[in-house]
Amino acid sequence: ERQRVVFSGIKPTGRLTLGNHLGALRRFADVQYTGRCVFSVVDLHALTVDHRPARLRALTRETATLYLAAGLDPDACVLFRQSDVPLHAELSFLLECTAYVGELNRMIQYKEKGRGRPGTRVSLLTYPVLMAADILAYRASEVPVGDDQRQHLELARDLAVRFNRAYGTVFVVPEMAPAQVAARVMNLQDPRRKMSKDDPDDAPGTIRLLDPPDVVRRKVMRAVTDSGTRVRYDLEGSPGVGNLIEILGGCVGEPDLESLADRYTSYGSLKRDVADAVIALLEPLQQRYADLADDPGTVEAILRKGAERAAELAAPTITAAKQAIGL
Ligand code: ADP
Repeated sequence: ERQRVVFSGIKPTGRLTLGNHLGALRRFADVQYTGRCVFSVVDLHALTVDHRPARLRALTRETATLYLAAGLDPDACVLFRQSDVPLHAELSFLLECTAYVGELNRMIQYKEKGRGRPGTRVSLLTYPVLMAADILAYRASEVPVGDDQRQHLELARDLAVRFNRAYGTVFVVPEMAPAQVAARVMNLQDPRRKMSKDDPDDAPGTIRLLDPPDVVRRKVMRAVTDSGTRVRYDLEGSPGVGNLIEILGGCVGEPDLESLADRYTSYGSLKRDVADAVIALLEPLQQRYADLADDPGTVEAILRKGAERAAELAAPTITAAKQAIGL
């Protein structure tokens, strides 16, 4: 049987949130010893929206440092910055020649963030193709991502199948590996919207991984609930409370959210436990981050070494793809 190969990435467009951690980052650490794991800070993706060069560089560094702080072991997995490996852009072009404008136009994120708006970058439309290239380059069998990436992952699968049918089998068709709990963490102030690192820096409903404990507590205690009083897990009827239960379940590793909800008789006690659980989850990560942030040379050296390894791993796939497509 073929080795398990895992790929995932996070784009450095903002300061990482609890959603990024529960939906993605934490799960990278969970799988890192189970097969070949490749994790990237996908900085090219950050160029698809309005950006400032110095901020992008700082966020790339911060995100890479958070990978390590979250427990990713550079001896066990490949950690790198996407732009250090030019093969991603090269494969992306081959896949652009496999993708259709119509299917990219239908991507929900493009519809929400770009379509029809002046100043929308071409790369925002083609970004899911670059994401497909990221994944397919490593012949990844599994992609741990949050629920919001479902449609993009479906596209990566479609492109792999289409290319293989047209030119011969080059790519592995990847499976999405969604989180069991907290696959879509919602904004604490607007639980119909997902918590996003692109929320404004001071957004009161967005918990950042580097928020100090008192800030986490304040944000949780002020979370929107609803006018009812019973604590129940009902994402439709009571999305604010449901979201808090998701977060609690995600933090403490309890997948049975109904029975978790049954343990609470008031919103206040639920919020206190959520705040405690988030603070406890983030504490070791923040401690490691503080140590690593003093040592940017080490982080940089890890990324450079990772890029060399990533290029070695991706090269045979790109060679095979070029050959197959007629280059
Ligand atoms: P964002 O959507 O915050 O800008 P990215 O698009 O870079 O982040 O996604 C990074 C990873 O974090 C992806 O796997 C994505 O699915 C996951 N993720 C982002 N937001 C959430 C959320 N609110 N809940 C769960 N997972 C999330």
